[in-house]
Amino acid sequence: MIPLAKKATPAAIAVLRQATALWPKRKKASDGLLPSKAHVHQNPNSDHNSGYAVDLTHDPDKGVYCQVIYTELQKDPRVKYLIFKGRIWSAKNGEQIYTGINKHNKHLHISIKEGCGDDTSPWFPWVPKAKAINKVKAAVRPLPKKKEAK
Ligand SMILES: [Zn+2]
Repeated sequence: MIPLAKKATPAAIAVLRQATALWPKRKKASDGLLPSKAHVHQNPNSDHNSGYAVDLTHDPDKGVYCQVIYTELQKDPRVKYLIFKGRIWSAKNGEQIYTGINKHNKHLHISIKEGCGDDTSPWFPWVPKAKAINKVKAAVRPLPKKKEAK
């Protein structure tokens, strides 16, 4: 069994926060970070145990198209593997049929590589709004340092 972490990694938390920033009215019914007891029992070697996994609710009505996210995230170097609608993709093995009990029809599972747990850079960079948000951030210059009072 993968030992249980007390907190999810910042990278995993960032997926949900950034998704909510982009799609504020999105459903969260199938969101998940750390596993429930039942989940640990069913899947003791899940990356949810270590905080390196996150589930994002599929909500096409509100703009969260997990099929698109599943495809786009294959380009993200932080991703270890993805599961959605009976398919699993990993950097190592490409796409395969997912044979687990839960087909992941209602959410996208994202497992994050070890060593990327603190990387909170944008998870949805292809979304036009995400670019706008990034531009705003990039345009903010740090204030000049105050001169020391003498
Ligand atoms: Zn999951």
